[in-house]
Amino acid sequence: MLVRVRAALTCGTDVKVFRRGYHARMIVPPALFGHELAGDIVEMGADVRGFKLGQRVVAANSAPCGQCFFCRRGQDNLCEDLLFNNGAYAEYIRIPQRIVEKNMYEVPEHVSYQDAALVEPLACVLRGLEESGVREGDTIAIIGLGPIGMMFVRLAKAVYGARVIAVGRRQPQLDRARKMGADEVVINSEGADALGAVHEITGGHGADVVIEAVGLPEVWQLAIKMLRRGGVVNFFGGCPSGTEIRLDTNLLHYSELTCKASFHHTPALIRKALEIVTRGYVSAKDLVNRVEPLANLLEVMQHLMSHNGHLKTAIIP
Ligand SMILES: [Zn+2]
Ligand SMILES: [Zn+2]
Repeated sequence: MLVRVRAALTCGTDVKVFRRGYHARMIVPPALFGHELAGDIVEMGADVRGFKLGQRVVAANSAPCGQCFFCRRGQDNLCEDLLFNNGAYAEYIRIPQRIVEKNMYEVPEHVSYQDAALVEPLACVLRGLEESGVREGDTIAIIGLGPIGMMFVRLAKAVYGARVIAVGRRQPQLDRARKMGADEVVINSEGADALGAVHEITGGHGADVVIEAVGLPEVWQLAIKMLRRGGVVNFFGGCPSGTEIRLDTNLLHYSELTCKASFHHTPALIRKALEIVTRGYVSAKDLVNRVEPLANLLEVMQHLMSHNGHLKTAIIP
C-alpha cells in the first residue's frame, strides 16, 4: 500500500539513532527515517482487502510473523522476524503486506492525523504498564518526562487509576506532568534528593512500581532504589549498547524486587492504543508543540538533540 503521509511525529528513538548512528533492532542507517505516521491511502496492491483509496489510516512501524517461537507464546514484540518499516519523514511511504494485514487501521473521523500517529509510542507505553502489573491505587513513580514519560503519567492516572509521582529534571516538565495528571512531582536536578523525596511521599516505603523512561544506567540504578519491598521496576528506556548496571544482591533478594523491561509493542496493543486515542485519553495537543515542513527535518533533529525535555514535533510534508 502507498500512503501519503499527512503527519509524522518525531520520537526520542529517532533522535537517539540520529545521535548514536545505530539502533539495536529497529533500523540500520543509512536508511529512510521516521516511524510514527498517519495519512491517506493513494495506491493499493490488487489483493488488498478491507481498505479503500483515499481512506485515512494509521500504520504501525512493524508487524510480527505470527509463526515463530515467540509469536506462538504471545510475545510477538520479540518476534524473530519482526518486520520494521521506516520512512515516515517523506511525502509517501510504502506499507508492506504484513503491516497492512496485521497492524494498520482506519482513523476514525473525529481523530486527527497527529492524534492517530501517537498510536505507536502509546502502544509501547501500554506494554510497559501491563508488564509492570500496575493496579488501581498503586503508587507509580515515573522517571523521565519526555513525551513517553508524559504518556505514562496520563495513562497510569486516567486509565489505570494509579497515584502518580512524576520525576523530572526541569520545572517546566514537572508543571506539564501535573497538567497530565501527576499527583506529586519531584525534581531530579543536580543536587536535588529525588530518592529522598519519593520515599517521603510514599511514607518511607518506596513506590509499588517505578518506570525508568530515560535510558541511562545511572537512572536505572536510581529507579531500583525508589522501589518498595516487593515492588516492580520497569527499565523502559533503552541505554547505549555496552553499558552495564550493578545490582545490590541483598536488596534484590531480601526485598523481593522484580526487575522488568519492556520493548516495543504487539498488534493487540496497537489496537488498544487506537481505542485510547479515539476516546481522547491522549491527544497531540498535550504532546506535540511544534509543526514543521519536511524541508526543515535536519534542523528539527538538531534542535531535538540539543534540547532535553522537548515534546514532539509534527512533520507535515
Ligand atoms: Zn517512536
Ligand atoms: Zn514471529
